[in-house]
Order: sequence, then structure tokens, then C-alpha cells
Amino acid sequence: MLAPLLLLWPMSIAITYLVAKSIANQPFDHALEDNVTMLTQQVKQADGKLSSQLPGRSGANARDFLRSDDVDAVYYLIQNERGGYVAGDRDLPPPQDPDRYRSSTVLFRNDNIHGTPVRVAFSYLDMPAPPGEEPRRALVQVAETLEKRAQLANEIIKGVILPQFIILPIILALVWFALARGLSPLAQLQERIRARPPDDLSPIESGQVPEEITPLVGSLNEMLARLSLSIDMQKRFIADAAHQMKTPLAGMRMQSELALRQTDQGEIHRSLEQLARSSEAATRLVNQLLALARAENQPQAGAAFAPLALNELALAVVQDWVPASFAQQIDLGFEQPEQPVIIMGNAIMLRELLSNLIDNALRYTPSGGSVTVRVRATLEQAILEVEDTGPGIPQAERAQVFERFYRILGSNVDGSGLGLAIVREIAQQHGAEIDIFNNPRAQSPKLPGTLLRLALPLLPPAAPTEDDVTYG
Ligand code: ATP
Ligand code: MG
Repeated sequence: MLAPLLLLWPMSIAITYLVAKSIANQPFDHALEDNVTMLTQQVKQADGKLSSQLPGRSGANARDFLRSDDVDAVYYLIQNERGGYVAGDRDLPPPQDPDRYRSSTVLFRNDNIHGTPVRVAFSYLDMPAPPGEEPRRALVQVAETLEKRAQLANEIIKGVILPQFIILPIILALVWFALARGLSPLAQLQERIRARPPDDLSPIESGQVPEEITPLVGSLNEMLARLSLSIDMQKRFIADAAHQMKTPLAGMRMQSELALRQTDQGEIHRSLEQLARSSEAATRLVNQLLALARAENQPQAGAAFAPLALNELALAVVQDWVPASFAQQIDLGFEQPEQPVIIMGNAIMLRELLSNLIDNALRYTPSGGSVTVRVRATLEQAILEVEDTGPGIPQAERAQVFERFYRILGSNVDGSGLGLAIVREIAQQHGAEIDIFNNPRAQSPKLPGTLLRLALPLLPPAAPTEDDVTYG
């Protein structure tokens, strides 16, 4: 607040000075005008000639009648209609381009005499012209130097500015005091927040804060509530993850202890097989946890997005899964339209998503079945579908399967329950909708199959050139 105040102050002084000067001019201009009027009346016209003689007082000079004081020098000049000298100071210059001025009004201008600036009041008088000639004008001028005016302006300035020297420090002191007082509740609030233990996320009591910052404290409390919710979720997730880890690890310990105690070669082999399966499940769990953490820790949704051809990306992922489909004896198919389907997305994340969907389809579909990955485009959306001829996901479970660690009971397939949580996280980042249906192409009623459909916003055409598109 001080900086603008100190900047505005000189400006206000300058403006005051200009105003004071113009005010100081006014009374002195009046006096000058009176002088001109008086001279004009005094100047007599005799036989068409001007004289500066006062009637009845011969010898009296015009100068004696000019109101004057000791401070300023006064000059006057009377010229006849031909511009000839009648009386006064010859050095007083006539006004420039006289045609601009009307007759018989008193006018003012600023001028110089002997290099000294003066204020001049002047008036033109219409003179009767001989018949046939154009009327001409005589000129009466009175000038005075500017000393009085400067003195008065200085007086005014002093009168205005001196009090300011007293008022300004008082204003500063008051502002200082008021700001310090006004901000003190904030300082108290700061102290209270600083004094909190790090794990205290309870809301700040809004009773003790001033009204102005109650909304701020309100939104801070909302944020604290969200934070504590997300920390709770985080804690639950870690607890769940640790719990899930315990199962395969306990299995591994048991199997290895069992194997150590056995002598029969066949039994040892079976235990080792179990051990391998448990360690595979543990590895799978850790990998899925990492994938989920990666998906959740994407900097900002959209930040790493680039235009990409969804059909090319899907084809590449499907090709990776061909060996696994052979091992499972499942017919893995791929369908795509003739035109590339271009979307904005993060290729690495989308591969992770599709891998999880294909993994599920292959894992839960009995051998001999078929899995189809399909990419197509509607007017506004890119559609990615994975359908299989497996047992399907019951209607009641379709919302829950996307929860972390949620698995449908009864399937004897290994899994960590994180796959669809990863899918949901990545889909959300891409602004995509996911839906689960029965597979309409399923053959047997016992195996209704699953159709998992992902609808992504299509990149409007014409935006990217062919060069911008990265192929999956
Ligand atoms: P992970 O994929 O992390 O190894 P998971 O496959 O068990 O473990 P999700 O992929 O999240 O976990 O799937 C959740 C549950 O949804 C699965 O346990 C399974 O019961 C069911 N499910 C998912 N996809 C299918 C499918 N294509 N057909 C039948 N059931 C499925
Ligand atoms: Mg899965």
C-alpha cells in the first residue's frame, strides 16, 4: 500500500500546483481587464484621432491611471487604426494574427517584453472610417509581469502541501495499525495450524476465525476431509495388498517345508510344482500392484496423451497374446475396420488395459472356446470390445468386479483381483465408458460369455496429420 501511495503523492502535488496557478491568475486577470477598460474609456477620439489625454486634465498621462503596485512592472501601449504609436511602451509587441480576435472585448495572452514573461490584456476598438474605406481597428494593451501571480500560487501550494506532511504520516500510521490488527486473526490461525501434529486431519474450528476467512477455513476443512478419506483408502489398500501377499507366501513356505520333509521323488516334484504356482501368483500380484500404482500415478490425465491408432495398438497387443491362446487352446481373433480409428491416449496405459481384458478372457474361458478383440468406430466414439465364450459375469457382480481385490467366488482360476481395477483406472483417465454384457454370439446357454465394451472419445478428424499418429 505504501508504494502506490508514495507514487500518487507527487502526482497530486503536480496537479495541485497547476490548479493553484490557474486560480491565482484569475483575480489578477480581472485587475488587468479593468485597466484595459479604463484606458479604452479614457482614450478619446477627436477628429478621428486617438489621444491619451484625460478630458479636462491636460498633461495627465495614461500611466498615472493604471492600477499598479510595487511588485510587478506594468506596461501599456495604445496604437491607432493604422498601427501608429499613440502612447505607452513601444516595446510591447502586438498580438499575432489580429484577425482572430473580436473587437471591444478584453482578451488575454501570455507574451514577452525585454525577454521577461508578461500577462497581456488587450482590446480592439472599431474606428469610424471615411466613406468608401474599410473600417479599421485601434489597439489598447496593458501588460504586467508575473511576480504576484507566482507568489500567490506559491502561497496556495504551501497552504495545501504543508498539512499533507502532517496528514500523510498519520495515514501511514493508521493503515499500518489497521492492517496489523486486521491480519492478527490470520497469524493466530497460522500458529494453530502450525502447532498441529502431522497426522491430525481433524477440521479446523471455524468458530474462532473472523468472518472474512470463514469460507477459506471451510474449503480448507473440505480438503482435509478429502485428504483423510484418501489416506484411509490408501491404508485399506495397503492392508489388503499385504493380506493378499500373505496367502501365496504362506503357501510357498508350507510347500517348501513339505518338500524338505519328503523323500519320495514324486511327492517332492508335486510340492515343487505347487511352490512354482504360488510364486507365480505372488509375482502376478506384485506386477498387478505395480501396474495399478503406475496407472494411478499418471501425472495428469491427458498430459502424456498423443493421437494414436487404436486398431494398430490393439492388433499389436493381440499378437503378443497369440502364444498364450495356443497354450489354452482358445481361438483368439481380431477384427478392425478399414479406416484407422484415431483417438487421443497414452499408448502404454492402453496396452496395459487391453492386456488385462485379454488376460481375463483367456483365463476364464474354458479351452476350446474363442476370444475376439474388435475395434470399430461410431460417429463420435471409438469402440474397443473383447468378447469370449466363457462363464460370463453375472448381472449382480458387474459393478463390483471393478473393485480392487474383488474376485467372483467359485472360479478355480488364480488371480489377484486387480485386473479390472487397473482397467477402470485407465479408462477413467481416457474419459472412456466401460460396460459388461453377455456375449451375443455365445453358443451354449451354460456359457453366456462376456462382452466387455470400452467407448473412447474419437479424435475429431482433420486435427492431426498422418505424421502425428503413432502406431501402437
Ligand atoms: P488379476 O487379473 O489381477 O490377476 P483377476 O482376473 O481375478 O485378477 P480381475 O481381472 O479384476 O481380477 O477380475 C475380477 C473378477 O471378474 C475375476 O475374478 C473374475 O471372476 C471376473 N471376470 C473378469 N473377467 C472375466 C471374464 N472375461 N469372464 C468371466 N469372469 C470374468
Ligand atoms: Mg484379471
